[in-house]
Amino acid sequence: MNLEDITTVKSILSQPQKIVIIPHKNPDGDAVGSCLGLCSFLKEKGQKANVVAPNDYPKFLKWMPENESILNFEKENSQAKALLEEATVIFTLDFNDLSRTGQLEAILKEKQCDFIMIDHHQKPSDYARVTYSDVSMSSTCEMVYNFIEYLGGVDSITQNIATNLYTGIMTDTGSFKYRSTSSRTHRVVADLIDRGADNMKIHENVFDTNSPSRLHLMGVALSNMVILEEYNTAYITLTQEELDANDFKKGDTEGFVNYGLTLEGIIFAVIFIENKEEGIIKISFRSIGDFSVNEFARNHFHGGGHDNAAGGRSEVSMEDTITQFNTILKEYKSQLNP
Ligand code: 5GP
Ligand code: MN
Repeated sequence: MNLEDITTVKSILSQPQKIVIIPHKNPDGDAVGSCLGLCSFLKEKGQKANVVAPNDYPKFLKWMPENESILNFEKENSQAKALLEEATVIFTLDFNDLSRTGQLEAILKEKQCDFIMIDHHQKPSDYARVTYSDVSMSSTCEMVYNFIEYLGGVDSITQNIATNLYTGIMTDTGSFKYRSTSSRTHRVVADLIDRGADNMKIHENVFDTNSPSRLHLMGVALSNMVILEEYNTAYITLTQEELDANDFKKGDTEGFVNYGLTLEGIIFAVIFIENKEEGIIKISFRSIGDFSVNEFARNHFHGGGHDNAAGGRSEVSMEDTITQFNTILKEYKSQLNP
């Protein structure tokens, strides 16, 4: 954040505000952690603040401190709408465009108040009074830590804030192994541990709380994996029928896509997951090295994200989506054989 933006934020927060903080639809650990961490911090500073999520988030995040205070716009609609109506400041966290907020988009587009964006995705849209965007950052949680530091508030980081920020940094960096993990990331995380984040417990809460049906579904996903050696690519499909047969719950497929990349030589991994209710195939893309899945998702599947992790969707059947995907891959043969 530049000096001018810091001054603007300080002046906004020098007055009592009614603040609403919003993560993207289908919020992940980074989205939930950054919103909760920022919310607690703003409340510590005497502000009125609430988190309104566009929809629900996975069970493996439902232990996070103060997560029960999050309003789900789908379920607690009138309460959420009332908060949005009276809001004087809206923070949007971990996304770059209002279209990422699902049903909230229409309300946010009409809303007249100060918006503050904190995000690390590429190509941020220009809707906020203050845009703190940095694509080199590991996570929005690391940016919220910086934001708190800019405001001179690091000593107000409580154990709950530390736990929430740690969780988001951990999940968005694949447990501190992705390219965006810097020495600064580790310094931030070390400070969060000093301020009370129980790193071992957090890891257990997120990764060691599987249900048997999730592991069975993982078995199906792995046996469905198709390897396209010619393109150094591996993809997985999961149909609605396969999800239903394994008692699918939100979040159960988290991380499946990464298994493709653990194969020697594979640099592009994809998972296609059917969602009959929404009438779409939700797609996750991951890569290793210079192949930009952000560009790939943006150009072909109405999506985006980061260079090595992105998402998108298809509105045709699974079969047609796979046919399309195979056709598109041909254009990328040289890029996929660096
Ligand atoms: P995931 O595959 O874990 O859902 O998402 C990977 C990354 O891509 C995340 O940073 C996420 O915010 C982004 N992403 C996922 N789906 C979409 C999408 O439909 N549109 C855009 N623009 N980004 C997405
Ligand atoms: Mn993130």
